Amino acid sequence: MRFLSDKYRLLSLITLLLVGGFLTTIIASYIVSRDEIRQRVIEQALPLTSDNIYSEVQKDILRPIFISSLMANDTFLRDWVIGGETDLDQVTRYLQEIKEKYSMITTFMVSERTNNYYYANGLLKKVGTSEPRDIWYYRVRSQKTDYETNVDVDMGNRDAMTVFINHRMLDYDGNFIGVTGVGLTLDTMTNLLDSYQKRFHRSIYFIDKNGVIKLAGKSMQDIHGSITELAGVSTIAKDILNHDVKPTQLEYQHNDATMLMSSRFIPELDWYLLVEQDITDDVKPIRRVFFINIAISAIVTMLILALTLFAVNRYQRRLEHIAGTDTLTGLLNRQAFEIVFQQAILDSERRRIPLSAILFDIDFFKMVNDNHGHLTGDRILQDIATITKNAVRESDIVTRWGGEEFLVLLKDCPLEKAAALAEKIRDMIAGHDFELPASELRLTASLGVAEYAYRETWLSFFGRADKALYQAKSEGRNRVIVSSPNVTAATQ
Ligand code: GH3
Ligand code: MG
Ligand code: MG
Repeated sequence: MRFLSDKYRLLSLITLLLVGGFLTTIIASYIVSRDEIRQRVIEQALPLTSDNIYSEVQKDILRPIFISSLMANDTFLRDWVIGGETDLDQVTRYLQEIKEKYSMITTFMVSERTNNYYYANGLLKKVGTSEPRDIWYYRVRSQKTDYETNVDVDMGNRDAMTVFINHRMLDYDGNFIGVTGVGLTLDTMTNLLDSYQKRFHRSIYFIDKNGVIKLAGKSMQDIHGSITELAGVSTIAKDILNHDVKPTQLEYQHNDATMLMSSRFIPELDWYLLVEQDITDDVKPIRRVFFINIAISAIVTMLILALTLFAVNRYQRRLEHIAGTDTLTGLLNRQAFEIVFQQAILDSERRRIPLSAILFDIDFFKMVNDNHGHLTGDRILQDIATITKNAVRESDIVTRWGGEEFLVLLKDCPLEKAAALAEKIRDMIAGHDFELPASELRLTASLGVAEYAYRETWLSFFGRADKALYQAKSEGRNRVIVSSPNVTAATQ
């Protein structure tokens, strides 16, 4: 029993060490590789993209701002407005020239005095406070800064969505005299963003200082509204809208994906540039390696356990063989018994004294194992061994013959006495409380008894005892059957 629990303790310890060791290394290396990927994206990839895009934006969006500023400060345009806006051709030619020279989609000028809206094809309309489309003009008119960037429809270009740069115009005394500027269609802008997106494999978009998405590539076209309401990003909205012109590195979770984001405020646009990247795909390969490692470790653990169990069992069997005793019950084992038995036969033949054997097998023992587990089964085998040893004389030999079969060799004991002893053992087992639940049948055993016949082989002798035992089983169990001496004759 001690050996058994030692064995299980050893196996548990090995399992614990292997599982602990494997898991620690696998998890540690997983975390290190994952953090490395994240760090690389945070420290290199995202800022680099953000810088690249920023410089592209400067080229593509800041240029129109520069042109608008140029127009607003152009002495010709200011003089023309101050001079009474007399020759329409002159301003039309001017707006046409700028539009073509700088490849703008639209150019315009609105006069504060006449409310006329001029564009490259002449006079488009008059702006008015009651017209919702003209709100922008009154906004720019009252704002403190020189210009604004606004996404709106362009009436002069079939209402196409357009990014306008609206620049305030002042006379030489600093009085407001109108607004001028240029426009790029949104298509040009989204194509631009799409090309960045394709080139850098990142999502790129612009938001205004309230978080409202202003510009995004085609892939994000159906995402509208404010980032404060978008699932995932909303959790870091406050950190994004921080007015910092230096890039801020952020991270958020969305639908099980880990998103890294770089945000920077672009004062010229009054917008934030957001560049984000889903690193789930980058982490996927190391996740696969993680599971492969777990599987390999599990297999290695099993193999080591199987090998250990095999080695320990072998070692146990060899020890038993050498010691001659059965580790579970402490009884003689079969190998040791054979030597003792030869001795007993010689003794019986020389002194002409009877020699008998009782072979017994527990009834329905499989059920005990099935219902209560192997350990309970083992305990019962130990109990049976004790009961049997207590029932016989010191000189009699009790052996564990096989799994739950026992053999008792009775020296100087005739058949009738052996049968009576078998009956006593049967009765003791049947009457013993093995501490099984009340509903359980009491444990019983079936016994076969035989007396050694002169010059009989041991095979024949035990064969007869076995046959009697088999008969006891087939006649209903919990009984003793005695092998009649006249069956003996046969084997020699
Ligand atoms: P019956 O003998 O009445 O025909 O039925 P049984 O259920 O006892 O059948 P059988 O003799 O074939 O089954 C023997 C069972 O004893 C099967 C085996 O698992 C169990 N056994 C054998 N050795 C050990 C052991 O060392 N410990 C435990 N717990 N069980 C054992
Ligand atoms: Mg049995
Ligand atoms: Mg059996």
